[in-house]
Amino acid sequence: MLDEILLLGRTESGRVEVEYTRLELKEFCYEIVEAFQLTGGRSHQILFSTEGDCTQAEVDVGLLRHILDNLFSNAIKYSSEGSAVRFTLSCQDNQAKFHIQDQGIGVPKKDQSKLFEAFHRASNVSGIQGTGLGLAIVKRCVDLLQGQIHFESREGIGTTFTVILPRNLMQPEHEQAPEDYCLQ
Ligand code: ATP
Ligand code: MG
Repeated sequence: MLDEILLLGRTESGRVEVEYTRLELKEFCYEIVEAFQLTGGRSHQILFSTEGDCTQAEVDVGLLRHILDNLFSNAIKYSSEGSAVRFTLSCQDNQAKFHIQDQGIGVPKKDQSKLFEAFHRASNVSGIQGTGLGLAIVKRCVDLLQGQIHFESREGIGTTFTVILPRNLMQPEHEQAPEDYCLQ
């Protein structure tokens, strides 16, 4: 928890430098899904799909990993074993959209407006551990990447978080051998 408080403080005081790296976005997301399946996510069915050409993007790898790890761990934590977590990556033009959808406990309407505030937890989480910091950090990471985040949720039905990030494809490509682009 101390690490999370320190990270939140760093994002708020502008002490996080955004470092853009060109990466294979689809591969990167697939690796995150695999990691979740290996560590505890085996209890859930994680269904990954992509729409559009999601090969290239230029993003900060650490921030993107932080965003997806947090949203995945929430999706798993707040839904029951055996249920599905759907992850869709859709890319168009210069934008990448990440949808993470669960069939879990949902967020009661009255709690929805405060969800991105630090230490705010919804009223239906009794017995499920957490500090209420994860989403506050996710929101700061999305802001640093000049993206947007929103969610839709119904109590007892499930929740979908959507993150929209610029892919920054207008920047000149790094010098790379052509075979580097043929990962799939
Ligand atoms: P942690 O800091 O360990 O992540 P947390 O999970 O309680 O703790 P956040 O990730 O910031 O904190 O989420 C804030 C609150 O939003 C949660 O306590 C929970 O009430 C609600 N929430 C977040 N994601 C979901 C989800 N997928 N389904 C249902 N409720 C959710
Ligand atoms: Mg959390």
